[in-house]
Amino acid sequence: MDQQQSNRSIAEADGRYVEVAVQAPLRRTYTYRLPDRLIGKVAPGSRVAVPFGRRKLVGFVLDTNSRALEGRTMKELAGVLESEPILPQELLSFLADAATYYHHPIGEVLRAAAPALPTEALKLLRQQGFLERGETLPGERVSTRRVLMVRPSADSPPQSRVGSNQRKILTLLEERGEISLDELRQHLKNPRHAVRSLEKKRIVATFEREAPIDPFFSEKVSADIPPRLNPAQSRAVSAIINNAPGSRSAYLLYGVTGSGKTEVYLRVIAEFRARGLGALVLVPEIALTPQLVSRFRARFGDAIAVLHSGLSIRERNRAWHCLRRGAVDLAVGARSALFAPVRKLGVIIVDEEHDASFKQEEGFRYHARDMALWRAHSANAVCVLGSATPSMESFYRAQQGKLQLLTLPERATPQPLPAVEIVDLARHRQGPSQHRLLTEPMLQALESCRQTRGQAILFLNRRGFSPSVRCVSCGEVAQCPACNVALVEHRREGVLRCHYCDFSKPLNTMCSECGGAVFESLGVGTERLEEALATRFPELRVARLDRDIAAGQGVESVLERLRRGEIDILVGTQMVTKGHDIPGVVLVGVMLADQSLAFPDFRASERTFQLLSQVAGRAGRGEKKGRVLIQSYQPQHPAIESARTHDYLSFYHNELRARREVGFPPFSRVVAVRVDAGGETEARKAAAELARVARNQRAVREGRVRLLGPAPAPISRLRGRYRFRLMLRAADRAALRVVTSALVERIDRGIAPARVILDVDPISML
Ligand code: ADP
Ligand code: ZN
Repeated sequence: MDQQQSNRSIAEADGRYVEVAVQAPLRRTYTYRLPDRLIGKVAPGSRVAVPFGRRKLVGFVLDTNSRALEGRTMKELAGVLESEPILPQELLSFLADAATYYHHPIGEVLRAAAPALPTEALKLLRQQGFLERGETLPGERVSTRRVLMVRPSADSPPQSRVGSNQRKILTLLEERGEISLDELRQHLKNPRHAVRSLEKKRIVATFEREAPIDPFFSEKVSADIPPRLNPAQSRAVSAIINNAPGSRSAYLLYGVTGSGKTEVYLRVIAEFRARGLGALVLVPEIALTPQLVSRFRARFGDAIAVLHSGLSIRERNRAWHCLRRGAVDLAVGARSALFAPVRKLGVIIVDEEHDASFKQEEGFRYHARDMALWRAHSANAVCVLGSATPSMESFYRAQQGKLQLLTLPERATPQPLPAVEIVDLARHRQGPSQHRLLTEPMLQALESCRQTRGQAILFLNRRGFSPSVRCVSCGEVAQCPACNVALVEHRREGVLRCHYCDFSKPLNTMCSECGGAVFESLGVGTERLEEALATRFPELRVARLDRDIAAGQGVESVLERLRRGEIDILVGTQMVTKGHDIPGVVLVGVMLADQSLAFPDFRASERTFQLLSQVAGRAGRGEKKGRVLIQSYQPQHPAIESARTHDYLSFYHNELRARREVGFPPFSRVVAVRVDAGGETEARKAAAELARVARNQRAVREGRVRLLGPAPAPISRLRGRYRFRLMLRAADRAALRVVTSALVERIDRGIAPARVILDVDPISML
């Protein structure tokens, strides 16, 4: 570990000194003396309180064999905050390596990994004056969500004349005894009103209850019978489980959508558990994959730690300690589940490994897929990356033999992959509906879907009514005052909103340029599409799934309704593209494929191909054959053409050639440096200074590391701050590290008033 100071010691290590990483943005660690009562009682990974300057901080013990520095009295450690070390040794050393790799302060890395402190520890801290009264550590506020429940009232009078909604509620109550308002919402619109009337008539009573501990466990799941593996699955499973000790143990499981990758994961996990080893499963967005959790529960029962952002501190701590003690040996979760303290880790699985959500985009910016490979390697565990559309990086690694490639070439069920048709938007300008994106072929497809009573998913990656509005008198597009992006019209809410900083103002506002009061909507967002479809197909049930919906009634309830066949057309953003497996969906429409191609990002093409293939994979998973329509202005584009033919390999080879020409990953590694400041000049100057430091490095002068920029970032102003960007790019990892370290050193000396963010292996180019 290069962050430790341990030279210049006088005495042999005698267990009196410990090395502590404090929770602060500092790239080094500190030595503390143990008070007598704690000698021999503090282990690496313990969370402790330490005096620090005039403050007191929380820190993590890294090492208990430290030595005092010559001629210095070391400060005494103030106390241990938990009875057991929160971080096991395996995790601790992995995290230390990760901190080094990402040039991120180790204390912050450990803080990001460990669950928040439990209340008792906080109390202790407060008693000892570590925190001001009323001050809380981030994430301390325990949220106990309460839900409103409905049940028949005890003295139910004869049920005279009740309305149809009220009748529905009573029928449901007869079936279930009691029901939550949330659940009622899935059956009827605005149930609150009907409940209130029933309550007035004293037919039902309402009461509050604490929300179920975990939404993933609210319904019972019955055990499943594992299917017979097909030959490709068998080969994959046996390759993974027969992995000889010491051999290469990282795999890329490349299998088309619906090819049975999940079944492979389940078998592999079962095998490792039978050997007494634990498993960790990472998925892109756990809230979107309740189905996956159900499949795990059906196979392994309820002793699974499902880690997700909805857990309260107490629940998270409970899950953490269950894993730590070995009471539970299987953890499933999104990105941050990478840090789950699974004991005797046997296998890490990263499902949909290409997904960008594995990259943490604030604070400790790590890539959970890359780190999964790393953690598995250092824990002597097996790692399996699975995808229907592997990332360029992973497939290239497989080609180089660094990952062992396992292929599932066909769907596991008799249904073939859906037929994909391209609609050239330049030729089909607009259908009779007045909506540019509702073309004649799209309308016809929806019509035949309606006739066969199939379900449809329409994907449009813009939420809101329209992505921008223009003043009809002066032509000015309404802009966010703090960011240089257009404000998005949210008509139902009656606001214009910035999707980057959340600024909003009323729709009936005046043009900031000319004072005009009439705006026209430019383009189509999900809200507008939903509305247009509801008008066009009044007899169909149209619903929407995007962040705006997710913030309100919940993703799960929409997906549940789709699954039950209570939605005919679902309109949505990226959220509809992820692994849902809904048999009734026969039509998938991509409204505007060009959106993601237009991103200022060297991965735009790759991202488009992945998105199109994933969303196409939602069609035809049931009895009926699926059909996919992709609308685009660039029908010849390789990303679109390869998605049409379901040809990952041709896409990969094409894209690889393009990447080689421009020298981007996987042929190099990138470090992005983002600089922002309140003034444009300060930001520009700071970026120029960092560029100067980089240019002074030999590796840059000799061309082994390329410096790109500095230049204004694609979003040149965000939340009122001006942004510049520079990038380092190199095939030579060691050289890149040296140059990055030089920048880090310069940044640490302070480059105020600018703020600098270092992003190693960046995913977002904004
Ligand atoms: P993927 O994860 O690759 O998208 P899944 O594991 O979800 O694929 O499998 C797709 C469908 O095929 C699921 O309904 C699953 O139950 C079914 N399936 C998987 N393996 C088999 C098999 N060996 N025999 C029959 N059905 C299978
Ligand atoms: Zn803004």
